[in-house]
Amino acid sequence: ELYLKRVEQHDGTLNSFITVTPELALEQARAADARLADGTAGPLTGIPIAHKDLFCTRGVRTSCGSKMLDNFIAPYESAITQRLLDAGTVMLGKTNMDEFAMGSSNESSFYGPVRNPWDTRRIPGGSSGGSAAAVAARLCAAATGTDTGGSIRQPAGFTGITGLKPTYGRLSRWGMIAYASSLDQGGPMARSAEDCAMLMQAMAGFDERDSTSVDQPVPDYSAELNKPLAGLRVGLPREYFAEGLDASIADVIGAAITQLQALGAEVKDISLPNAELAIPAYYVIASAEASSNLSRFDGVRFGYRCENPTDLNDLYLRSRAEGFGDEVKRRIMVGTYALSAGYYDAYYLQAQKIRRMIKNDFMAAFDEVDVILSPTSPAPAFALGEKIDDPVNLYLTDIYTITANLAGIPGIALPAGFASGLPVGMQLLGRYFSEPQLLNIAHQYQ
Ligand code: GLN
Repeated sequence: ELYLKRVEQHDGTLNSFITVTPELALEQARAADARLADGTAGPLTGIPIAHKDLFCTRGVRTSCGSKMLDNFIAPYESAITQRLLDAGTVMLGKTNMDEFAMGSSNESSFYGPVRNPWDTRRIPGGSSGGSAAAVAARLCAAATGTDTGGSIRQPAGFTGITGLKPTYGRLSRWGMIAYASSLDQGGPMARSAEDCAMLMQAMAGFDERDSTSVDQPVPDYSAELNKPLAGLRVGLPREYFAEGLDASIADVIGAAITQLQALGAEVKDISLPNAELAIPAYYVIASAEASSNLSRFDGVRFGYRCENPTDLNDLYLRSRAEGFGDEVKRRIMVGTYALSAGYYDAYYLQAQKIRRMIKNDFMAAFDEVDVILSPTSPAPAFALGEKIDDPVNLYLTDIYTITANLAGIPGIALPAGFASGLPVGMQLLGRYFSEPQLLNIAHQYQ
């Protein structure tokens, strides 16, 4: 009730929720009370959380931030939200996001932008900006997000919370509305690494309904939280601490590195030689996969349908023209172009080769160091509207986060400090399935 009241009081300003589900929340809270009474409660029983509006939730509108799905009531529950439900969490509602998770500022949402609780003239980051703002403003205790190119880590960094993008395949994608299937991964967003560890425990596990789900035992994510950092080898990619990095961010990250050294970590200069190819490769691959995934929204099977179509072609054309926003259309066109006969080799195939080179860079780096440290973004949260007319400039802000998705490795974002009163995020990338280690380092730092 307290959290619902906070949502009512503050979300008029923040716009972090698309749908609030008070009745369902109170019903789930009563079920949690019953579990507490009969001794079947776990650590997450009764914890009020929110889900990014990209996770299908049975009987609840699941819009994906789009007019296309404004009227879509999911008939089934996603794997991740079902696991959290089974753990006894209470869902307060569904959070705002960039349309179909395409964006870095939450300004492409059909439901309007989200505001950063630290400065409401600024963006909270995206695409999981609603989840980040809601956690940062204490409108929920934790939230789910998804990360295709940084959408958990970048908004976590901009709002001063902790967010984990797990190894690709660690969490089931079943029931997550697909953006770029080879890059998408759900994950927890919370106040601390310790909270993320508890959420991961409930969220992780094999799922035969997702063909890329990994059938590997789930570790105890809290087991290593208190391990000392002595001897930890931290790599600093010289390509990331270069031109384009705001001096105020570099200062905060520099101080964070000193603190990690004081905790026993050894710092090493490393190279990720193909780093500058990551953004062009990512935006070709992500757009190509998106153009294919979004072909299902045809006005027939899901969501929005135009009025009075004259024939089937008119139905397809107008439903998509009226249902999708500008950024989504831009991605569909770029992706369709990149996959077209005659251009496939020049763009898509080339991007896939770069993807492999980027992965190899990481594998070589992890021979020398245990984790790789960087800022989450090159500058602090910018003002609403500042980059809205310049998509390429906006794409460039993803520079530190998208490589992890291309390689499939895990990454955590955590608060490193403040610059001019705004949170600065620090990112740690690790080897495949090194989530316990990333959580350990983040917890020791916090
Ligand atoms: N900003 C990136 C994009 O627009 C990443 C978004 C995401 O991770 N969902 O594609």
